Amino acid sequence: MRIIDTHSHIYAEEFDADLSEVITRAKSAGVERILMPNIDIESIDRLHRVAGDYEGYCIPMMGLHPTSVGEDWRNQLNVIKQQLTKRSYIAVGEIGIDLYWDKTFEKEQKEAFEEQLRWSIDYDLPVAIHSRDAIPECIACIRNVGVERLKGVFHSFGGTEEELREILNLQNFLLGINGVVTFKNSTLSTVLKQTDLSHIIIETDAPYLAPMPYRGKRNEPSYTVKVAEKLSEIYNVSIEEIGRITTDNTVKLFSVS
Ligand SMILES: [Zn+2]
Repeated sequence: MRIIDTHSHIYAEEFDADLSEVITRAKSAGVERILMPNIDIESIDRLHRVAGDYEGYCIPMMGLHPTSVGEDWRNQLNVIKQQLTKRSYIAVGEIGIDLYWDKTFEKEQKEAFEEQLRWSIDYDLPVAIHSRDAIPECIACIRNVGVERLKGVFHSFGGTEEELREILNLQNFLLGINGVVTFKNSTLSTVLKQTDLSHIIIETDAPYLAPMPYRGKRNEPSYTVKVAEKLSEIYNVSIEEIGRITTDNTVKLFSVS
């Protein structure tokens, strides 16, 4: 079984006490890599520490999360842009628009998102997009900046069939699927039947969104197996095949070696 956790905040303090055990469990579950999106300037040190401790296994991205776009967003962006010039990252992330928690900085969120989309073109990197109640807005920004030059993933995808079609119309964007797909009240499995596995990659969004039967607990990369199991049910193919196809999609998008 091969699998890559394409979105995992395992540098968060929730893992301070037992990160090495978490990594051991991930490896024995078949997790080949863990891709780590950044949040803001506060999380950079932790992100780099884990990337250094598990070099080549826990791989960092760099970006400013939309819920961290506030009064000081220009300063935050400057610091993050500096980071991109100093070392290599696998993607610009996580970036995007979140209109669920707070709309105060909607205009600034869009500006910050477009700015970071342009960086991804400059550095020839994919983007990891956080979009909550904002898929149409994110798509508009992508089209503004230049859809044919951008590639990436809508992480934690949970949209409608219409939104799924709009994302796939962008051509170079995939859907990041996590534990939400295992929740009983989720309509995601029905929506996903509108497409095939060539557009899907697997993630946890750890420490959040643990799949069933761990819902409500701390999530961790080894639980990606539960997401793969659910996808195997939805598409009626073996779990090994799910792992193989989603890993291939991930390797292609992120140029993971
Ligand atoms: Zn995240």
